[in-house]
Amino acid sequence: MSKSVLKDHVRAQAEDRPGVYRWLAADGRVLYVGKSVRLRSRLLSYFREPDGKVERLMREADGVAWDHLPNEFAALFREMRLIQAWRPEYNVEHKRKRRFGFVKVTREAAPRLLVVGRVVSDGACYYGPLARTGWLADAVNDLARATGLRDCRADVPMHYGDQLEVFASGRPPLCLRGEVGSCLAPCAGLCTSADYRQRLAAAQAFLERRSKAPLAELSKALAAAAERREFEHAARLRDRMARLEKLQAHLSGFRGQAREMNLVYPVAGFEGEDRIYMIRRGRLHSDMARPATARDVQRAARVVARVFRPAPADREAAMGAIAASETLLAVKWFARHPQERRRAVAPTEWLAGQRLRWGRALSQI
Ligand code: SF4
Repeated sequence: MSKSVLKDHVRAQAEDRPGVYRWLAADGRVLYVGKSVRLRSRLLSYFREPDGKVERLMREADGVAWDHLPNEFAALFREMRLIQAWRPEYNVEHKRKRRFGFVKVTREAAPRLLVVGRVVSDGACYYGPLARTGWLADAVNDLARATGLRDCRADVPMHYGDQLEVFASGRPPLCLRGEVGSCLAPCAGLCTSADYRQRLAAAQAFLERRSKAPLAELSKALAAAAERREFEHAARLRDRMARLEKLQAHLSGFRGQAREMNLVYPVAGFEGEDRIYMIRRGRLHSDMARPATARDVQRAARVVARVFRPAPADREAAMGAIAASETLLAVKWFARHPQERRRAVAPTEWLAGQRLRWGRALSQI
């Protein structure tokens, strides 16, 4: 199809409203998927003296198709899902198989902090998802050191100092960390279980962005090292602080725990096409027209109750790469638009609000 015919088609049919579009090759392959809040303007911009990658795309493109959507939020998720399904040649974002990591707080006699690739139902606490790049393991290691938590293997025997049956007192720690004091050394009875739990709580408060205590301690150590003119040591402490700050920043948005992100999110749509989105554990689970009557609200309440019904524990906890990338997308959206996050409420809060608004008409909810 010639470019002028394509352009006329866009001019005649596309609306200036949110949507996703796809450029197609002559053999029907999807070459590129994009989104825009002003679809028509965006598509027409492709015909204006394209250069570089856009020029190559337009040389190959033989058709274009699009879907109008009610709002930018819907377009964001649709775009990502289409790119992940089709993996178009000209897309970069969302196409790479990103690796995600979670910080796991194990359930062991002396819990550890680990970086893992999946959330499973094992009673442990998981924080994330985070893009799994080199710095993450180092940052988690830094946090363990700053809080005195162990990082040795699971099968290293633990003997807390308050365990009467243990004859470990006087035994040296099983690794250098215990000797230099960067681990409380529960392997050698050098701390009580309460001491260890207290440090673990400090690490979790940090991961949940409730505290910066490990940073404050590092900062003190840094000042002391500088005063002693131990500049190499001071530089290492500075690097650790930078990684910990980055870790905390990356855990923003929902206090670090994906499972807390259960939201009913009302969004005003194009020309009154308002929707409510149900976000379960960070994933966009379903959506529907924003209810306008008591009957609509009753129907919506049933959908909300079904979507947020507790699932079997293993399904509830499991989170793989696709779920993680959707969760990250939602987290980034709300981090960029804090006013939107304020409008998104927990399902119980949404139901309570509807009851308040519709009163007796909703006695069935
Ligand atoms: S000092 Fe003991 S508990 Fe701490 S990391 Fe080393 S072996 Fe593990």
